[in-house]
Amino acid sequence: MKKVSRRTFLKWGVAAGAVAVAAPYVMMNKNNMFTSTLTEMAGAPALFDVLVIGSGGSGMRAALEAGRQKDLKVALMTKLVPTRSATCMAQGGINGALRHADARDSIEKHAFDTVKGSDYLGDQDAIRFFAEKAPEALRELDYYGVAFDRMQDGRMAQRNLGGHTYARSAYSADQSGLVILHTLFEQCLKNNVNMLMEWQLLELVVEDGKLCGVVAMNMHSGKILPVMARTVVVATGGYGRLYWVRTTNPFSSTGDGIGACLKVGIPVKDPEMVQFHPTGLAGSGVLLSEAARGEGGYLVNKDGERFMRRYAPDKMELGPRDLVSQAIETEIREGRGVGEGLHAAVYLDLRHLGKKKIMQKLPQLRQLALNYEGVDAITQPIPIRGTCHYSMGGIDVVDYKTCATAIPGVFAVGECSCLSVHGANRLGGNSLAEVVVFGKYAGNGAAAYARNNAFDGNQTALDRAADEWEQRFAAVSSRSSGSTVPSIRDRMAATMWQNVGIFRSRTRLEQAVRNIDELLEEYRSCVVRDTTRIYNTAFMNYVELGNMLPLARMVAMAALARQESRGSHFREDYPRRNDQKFLQHTIVTRKGAEYSLTYRPVAITDYQAEERKY
Ligand SMILES: Cc1cc2nc3c(=O)[nH]c(=O)nc-3n(C[C@H](O)[C@H](O)[C@H](O)COP(=O)(O)OP(=O)(O)OC[C@H]3O[C@@H](n4cnc5c(N)ncnc54)[C@H](O)[C@@H]3O)c2cc1C
Repeated sequence: MKKVSRRTFLKWGVAAGAVAVAAPYVMMNKNNMFTSTLTEMAGAPALFDVLVIGSGGSGMRAALEAGRQKDLKVALMTKLVPTRSATCMAQGGINGALRHADARDSIEKHAFDTVKGSDYLGDQDAIRFFAEKAPEALRELDYYGVAFDRMQDGRMAQRNLGGHTYARSAYSADQSGLVILHTLFEQCLKNNVNMLMEWQLLELVVEDGKLCGVVAMNMHSGKILPVMARTVVVATGGYGRLYWVRTTNPFSSTGDGIGACLKVGIPVKDPEMVQFHPTGLAGSGVLLSEAARGEGGYLVNKDGERFMRRYAPDKMELGPRDLVSQAIETEIREGRGVGEGLHAAVYLDLRHLGKKKIMQKLPQLRQLALNYEGVDAITQPIPIRGTCHYSMGGIDVVDYKTCATAIPGVFAVGECSCLSVHGANRLGGNSLAEVVVFGKYAGNGAAAYARNNAFDGNQTALDRAADEWEQRFAAVSSRSSGSTVPSIRDRMAATMWQNVGIFRSRTRLEQAVRNIDELLEEYRSCVVRDTTRIYNTAFMNYVELGNMLPLARMVAMAALARQESRGSHFREDYPRRNDQKFLQHTIVTRKGAEYSLTYRPVAITDYQAEERKY
């Protein structure tokens, strides 16, 4: 037998492993994800027609739409593996007025429920478009192979979620997002999409108003690379991690795309509108889906009272999230909760649903309560409390039909964007619907732009930006003293939960702004005690914190300026809605350390603002 040196043997091993990993994708994807990744690793800058950042539902749907146009070079970049994101955690369902479960439903009703749910801050033209396109988007997913639960007659089943008049949420048990995301991933592989996985976006590069591309770090090699692009679709998800330990969001929801857009002058809209989901597990903030209440679960206080009858007598537990979260917090404050401090809670009681229904319709939820709280939903009530869940605010989109932003060639879609479909409060099931409806239009918008516009970006500016990141890496990783990233992050999260949480006031918000300004200062000289290049997650966390701190500042600042209560934004010192002054979007821009705030009127086409009653 021929002798093989240890070095050659190892090389073969690596190559064989690489082929094994890449094989399924190579077979399905002509452009070959693996080769493309290797090319980037070698440092050769590529020019993509459409570069999508983020592989949640919105990024996948956008990439798929662009990728179907075979002559375009499309890539999907994500800092995780492509099938991990907030989307894959979505449990309850995805809305569309299909009228399967209830023939009385209509596009009109879906639009109205969404406008009312938004506390009239949603833009009604965008909402109407959304409600019109949602049924078609659901049918497309069905066609692509999403395994939706079915009714006896074979049509997609639909369940009721909070704030909706009719049952209009299609679902796959309580794992709807996971099933949708995996299906979209398969379709992307089949349709020409290059996967740049475990690549972290560091910066969007725009010179003289012209898009050049992005700078990103390939986590595999640790290389910081310029990537040229005719168009960039930012689809990086929300900023729930500003509340770090009390959120349902994945660790990736750090507002990176929003940070990148702010840096090139694209404003953020309505950042103060942060949703608190009513049913986070008391100890961890992990989500128990609204599906639990959709299937008939009760909310009870320590006296066993179904307290929602005092807050939303018609809708009861299926009131909108803002109202139910505020009701839970009031029960706790007024002594009708159980437990102490951060662990104070009320109960979600599913026992009356019976074992069979819980196991069939809510299996994941039962498991989560068992794993994180040690409570079996079949025999025990589950302690729950509000937890940060969704970012209604985000990158200011100027044309909802293409998801274009103010900078030509830059598009934004999904939770990182603000179109604004959800206004001051999102309804359950409307986010998954938003990401697939507008993901498609963002993909089309970017593809059309790439077709009609030659690349005009400055490659030198792109290279320079990459060099600056190299220098920054060297500087922060060689520093030996200063605050650590986790220490600053934990204090940011504590400030956000205590001062910019479910109930807000001038004193607390002013305190938050002061605290965050101090943390921003501390961040400038913080340390990253890891000089290695390969999978340097400490550096990754440093970059994420650099995006979160300015965003935290904006949330607090915008909440302070909005002297009214609307949707998820509740001011104890201004408990009423003020349409005369604040039926407007907050628009925040950032220039270095300077933040400026203006307002823009809401698009009102069909429904005049009126008092919300449930
Ligand atoms: C636990 C949970 C349950 C939910 N249940 C429902 C539900 O039942 N129905 C519903 O409608 N909505 C639900 N939602 C909300 C919904 O899932 C999300 O709003 C939606 O999926 C967001 O999709 P997205 O594509 O915008 O972002 P995400 O799915 O968050 O994807 C963001 C992507 O961007 C990538 N990324 C981020 N930063 C970078 C960077 N710097 N570089 C490269 N890549 C980056 C991430 O890796 C990820 O791939 C739920 C959310 C959670 C957390």
